[in-house]
Amino acid sequence: QANERESLYLVSEFASTYFQRILHKTDKGKAIGLSYFKERGFTDETIKKFALGYSLDEWQAFTDEALKQAYKLEFLEKTGLTIVKGDKRFDRFKGRVMFPIQSMSGRVLGFGGRILTNDKKAAKYLNSPESDIYHKSKVLYGIYQAKQSIAKEDNCYLVEGYTDVIQFHQTGIHNVVSSSGTALTPDQIRLINRLTKNITVLFDGDAAGLRASLRGIDLILEQGMNVKICTFPEGEDPDSFSKQNTLQELNEYLKEHAQDFIQFKASVLYEESKNDPIKKADTIRDIVNSIAKIPDRIKKEIYIQECSRIMDISEQVLFTTLAQITNKDV
Ligand code: ATP
Ligand code: MN
Ligand code: MN
Ligand code: MN
Repeated sequence: QANERESLYLVSEFASTYFQRILHKTDKGKAIGLSYFKERGFTDETIKKFALGYSLDEWQAFTDEALKQAYKLEFLEKTGLTIVKGDKRFDRFKGRVMFPIQSMSGRVLGFGGRILTNDKKAAKYLNSPESDIYHKSKVLYGIYQAKQSIAKEDNCYLVEGYTDVIQFHQTGIHNVVSSSGTALTPDQIRLINRLTKNITVLFDGDAAGLRASLRGIDLILEQGMNVKICTFPEGEDPDSFSKQNTLQELNEYLKEHAQDFIQFKASVLYEESKNDPIKKADTIRDIVNSIAKIPDRIKKEIYIQECSRIMDISEQVLFTTLAQITNKDV
């Protein structure tokens, strides 16, 4: 079992080295993959830091090379790098730019691959399937490159995508990780919890990003961590936004727009419908539900006071509601 996992690590490491070599050293890699990254504004330094690569647009170029180097088909299949159908073999990531997903200690666990065209029929990103070394609910993209900075800054920015992490690094913010397409999980939050108690959620400025932010809040509070949320202008994501701004402008924006979860919920759930008493009641209940998730009694009380102030409602009725929710839970 331990041996088999080691074999999967070795195959993944080989694949990452191979995809990088294709990107940097072959004509097709340079013309297609490297120019794609350059057009997105990534520098050579950034491309190397994240070990980005390219998988040729051929049916089994990678698989053939791996077999030639004596890697076993069994492990190529188990990592999902090769798809086996009868006696045919296919490269899973054919024609995609490659983002290796690394563990906290820098081992390659799996990959995300992006298509280069705007073909709406094909999935924009494709990920490695679950394997004995890759459990998507337990990894955070960028954690290896971010861990020191997260501890030093005592804060972790949480974004949605690979390119958000990468562009933030290039702009000069290094304490950033991404859940990369999966809804945030408790295991992912625990990973951050080892480094800091503070998470700032930076999801895309669209309806999906808003929904994901709202979902993430309770999970973070439940683990006894502090959460702030910063939203971006409609249509922008951390990648596109940071690309248009200097480090100083980006830091100023983050500082000015970061809200605690009560301010955030009050503004997205209620502020547009200021005078609707039913909306107001729903929003208050929603906020108290979140407060109920916080393990620490003192923090609970402080947030009740803040909710009372922001929503203009008595603390007493909030405490009663909190007690009702807490009793229902147990
Ligand atoms: P890009 O800037 O390259 O278009 P993005 O990161 O802004 O990508 P989003 O559409 O905002 O892409 O999605 C956020 C993340 O969700 C992606 O980085 C990726 O990890 C994941 N994702 C997006 N589309 C898919 C898909 N079709 N299949 C699997 N995962 C996806
Ligand atoms: Mn999005
Ligand atoms: Mn995005
Ligand atoms: Mn994007």
